Amino acid sequence: MLELKNIDTYYGNIQALRDVNITIKEGEIITLIGANGAGKSTTLMTICGVVPPRRGEVLFGGKSIGGLSADKVVRMGICQVPEGRLIFPDLTVQENLDMGAFLRSDKAGISRDQDQVFGLFPILLERRKQLGGTLSGGEQQMLAISRALMARPKLLLLDEPSLGLAPLIIRQIFDIIKQINRESNTTIFLVEQNANQALKVAHRGYVMENGRITLEDACDKLLANDAVKKAYLGL
Ligand code: ATP
Repeated sequence: MLELKNIDTYYGNIQALRDVNITIKEGEIITLIGANGAGKSTTLMTICGVVPPRRGEVLFGGKSIGGLSADKVVRMGICQVPEGRLIFPDLTVQENLDMGAFLRSDKAGISRDQDQVFGLFPILLERRKQLGGTLSGGEQQMLAISRALMARPKLLLLDEPSLGLAPLIIRQIFDIIKQINRESNTTIFLVEQNANQALKVAHRGYVMENGRITLEDACDKLLANDAVKKAYLGL
């Protein structure tokens, strides 16, 4: 579904990604783990067209999307939940969800997807008229994921969904990520510093260090890898 081939991405003169190769197949949950500043968010921004690569190719369904603007990438079926959630704080929960469906005109489909979102996160139904900015951190993360789902993405990009959340909420969010993948067959690319949880929900994982992919394997193998255990799992 998505292929990054030999990607180099820069911010001015600073090289953030170095020869990055990642493959995501339809129906998979793939995780990218790494420390602060490794280049994880830059990888997502490169896919979304926010920071285009200077070298290499981004292929989605076999077509090059490397030079496309961010709105065109969304129209093709890729939707990102950015780090820090970035919901619209002055809009209600309902209005935030409506914004997620902004590019759609299929009313019946939108209504069905909204019911599905409220099924995944019943708290959002209760808080439908509440302003986004007054929700708790966990609820805002749920809203951010829901808003992205309202675009009916083929590929959902999640940037550190566990950031700043309590352990119980983190478990709930990761359970829902698995459920979204299973029930709506949405392919998921999960960028995380919480390697332990991410490697438990994903099928395959990539490890990034200083802008390079240094390891790639099935998640059970990465969980058992001594270098991963030492550097990322605190074992
Ligand atoms: P974190 O987990 O802390 O978000 P990350 O793995 O997502 O880290 P990136 O945010 O992709 O890492 O950053 C990769 C490198 O690119 C870092 O050295 C960072 O300082 C640099 N960088 C990121 N954004 C910019 C920018 N807008 N301008 C210049 N350099 C940037």
